[in-house]
Amino acid sequence: MSERLCKLQQAMLSVGLNEHPQSLINGELTDGPGADVSLIDPFTEEVLFTYADADTDLAKLACDAASATQPGWAKGMSAAARGQVMQDISRSVLSHAEPLAQIEAIVAGKPIRDCRVEVAKVAEMFAYYSGWADKLHGEVIPVPSGHLNYTLREPLGVVFQITPWNAPIFTGGWQIAPAIATGNSVVIKPSELTPITTVALVKLAEEAGLPKGVVNVLCGLGPTAGQAAIEHHAVRKVVFVGSPETGRRVATAAASNLKPAVLELGGKSANIVFDDANLKHACLGAQAAIFSGAGQSCVAGSRLLVQRSVHKEFVDMLANGMNNITLGDPLNENTEIGPISNARQFEHVTGMIKQAANEGATIHTRTKNDGCGYFVPPTVLNDLSNNATAAQSEIFGPVVTAIPFDDEAEAIALANDTNFGLAGAVWTSDVGRAHRIAEAVRAGTFWINSYKAIHVSSPFGGSLNSGFGRSSGTDALMEYTAAKSVWLDSAPTPKIAFGYVS
Ligand code: NAD
Repeated sequence: MSERLCKLQQAMLSVGLNEHPQSLINGELTDGPGADVSLIDPFTEEVLFTYADADTDLAKLACDAASATQPGWAKGMSAAARGQVMQDISRSVLSHAEPLAQIEAIVAGKPIRDCRVEVAKVAEMFAYYSGWADKLHGEVIPVPSGHLNYTLREPLGVVFQITPWNAPIFTGGWQIAPAIATGNSVVIKPSELTPITTVALVKLAEEAGLPKGVVNVLCGLGPTAGQAAIEHHAVRKVVFVGSPETGRRVATAAASNLKPAVLELGGKSANIVFDDANLKHACLGAQAAIFSGAGQSCVAGSRLLVQRSVHKEFVDMLANGMNNITLGDPLNENTEIGPISNARQFEHVTGMIKQAANEGATIHTRTKNDGCGYFVPPTVLNDLSNNATAAQSEIFGPVVTAIPFDDEAEAIALANDTNFGLAGAVWTSDVGRAHRIAEAVRAGTFWINSYKAIHVSSPFGGSLNSGFGRSSGTDALMEYTAAKSVWLDSAPTPKIAFGYVS
């Protein structure tokens, strides 16, 4: 057994798991009955595990368990007690932060320092939503008829969540926390390529006091376990985080069962640099926007729009800076960029770079590290128009397309000339212009002289191919609840306009 696999299994044992990936159904770690799924370490290309797909059988068991436990979770304890459990979950995540970060780093190939940040954010999500558990209530509405009309804000019941491989524990905590704070129960299917930290998170949550069966995790494939859970009669809503292509399939399956969906999909975000910006700060921001996480971020600043007067200077600064970025082993403390997370994505990113070359791009890049692993070095594609494939399709790698613009109007037109609507940024010292651009660019999140700042208290989501619905903040509380309108007639004789009693 390799040293890395040994380290991975030790980390798994220390968060209450067995030594191979298993689903978590009604509190039981359970092997699937389905086809084999392999987990490959993207740094060594070693097969870490082969496990069996949860398939339709476990999907049914998971939804049944969630359905059976939801009423007790919503009504069997006070909302304040529910919040207290979530506080305890937050503390447990923090006290197991290192093994959680190690599992994520080995399986997803993400630098350990980024993994630590994401685990801390997960703890913050449970702490934030713990405070909302007993503060969400309806309202009294002054209807004209004289009835007492009030609303109850109720949980939906069972929600099914699907998450991707690029930020497994982060996207898991992001969706589980608001769902359970509002009294729902959950079935979650992380990516089949990175399922372990989501199971670990829920196992730790159960040890911290979450009743078994309130959150169930399916380790397995989308078309089998995922599709079966979408169709299960107990599931009231589907929340999907992933690619536009799969999002379309998931939304179609949900709609054909008359179930609502939230879709958090991809992006092609514009990072706009004006010549009056602090160019050094803007360059650091542009690097973080596209190279951190090896560009495998939905909000990556993958279209760099630079005012023509400083375009060459800025691209040169960005390209020179690439040489100082440390690529390497995700477990190494100094690593800033790890490998691409899986072979399929590696093929996609390298294929997109080849296509950009065929479409006439001038390519600035650097050597990758020696040895194996799915590494793609930081890359800038220059001399492409905004219509080029690399400027319109999500690459989801450390690859940015740099495009010049002349004035504010052209910057806005280029930024909006995309089928996505997720995020964007502007770098300028002109405050008025910063606000004008923030308003004019189609995006769910927009930064001014900054990039990638997010917090669980602030809403997040997109439009068009970036999806619909909102996560985080109070918006997520609305997504995971529904209002019930209650009418009480307090008049001496009922105000019913029609009816006979014999
Ligand atoms: P993907 O669409 O390939 O897979 C996402 C999930 O869908 C996985 O769990 C997968 O197993 C599941 N799935 C696949 N087919 C399914 C089916 N037929 N039914 C049900 N589930 C199915 O995405 P990915 O490659 O894992 O992730 C990368 C994508 O995720 C990128 O496009 C990225 O931008 C996006 N993303 C978006 C956000 C956001 O918040 N907007 C966050 C992270 C990632």
